Amino acid sequence: MRCHQLLQPDLVLGDVIFGLTLDLIRQHQLRGLVLDVDETLVPIRQAEIDPEVVRWAAIMRSYTQLWLVSNNLNAPRIRRIAERLDLPYVAGAGKPSRRKIRQVVRAMDLPVHQVAIVGDRLFTDILAGNRLGLFTILVEPMVPPDQALRTSPMRTVEVWLSTLMGNTLKQ
Ligand SMILES: [Mg+2]
Repeated sequence: MRCHQLLQPDLVLGDVIFGLTLDLIRQHQLRGLVLDVDETLVPIRQAEIDPEVVRWAAIMRSYTQLWLVSNNLNAPRIRRIAERLDLPYVAGAGKPSRRKIRQVVRAMDLPVHQVAIVGDRLFTDILAGNRLGLFTILVEPMVPPDQALRTSPMRTVEVWLSTLMGNTLKQ
């Protein structure tokens, strides 16, 4: 895989996490999801997870294994969210490092092509997933309703750079 292709998601959802349905999971023959937390499942400044996300996770886990893998060093925050979802988790994962994600895939006991990484960031989530040969899914960031039009400046730069390198980030 060439360098710039490492930033190309296999699937650009064009929606927040709720756009990821059981149908899509089955269609891509996925049995495990490595989920980013901040701005993928919960807005960054929000402590509590929305009940809708809890329901989404409950539906997904009827068919796939789920793990939370976050770069956030605030382990109590990630633990609280993981407990609410009743899911195993890793905090301080250091994505795009492969080390922690490799451990998670090993714990899932699944071949890499049946595991997807799901996240809102190209240079952490998607890069880490592609480096490991996982299926990579880019979601729109989950932001509070009053910030709906504000995207993180870093994400905007990442999308711009990646597009410049010839990647397709349209749905
Ligand atoms: Mg994130």
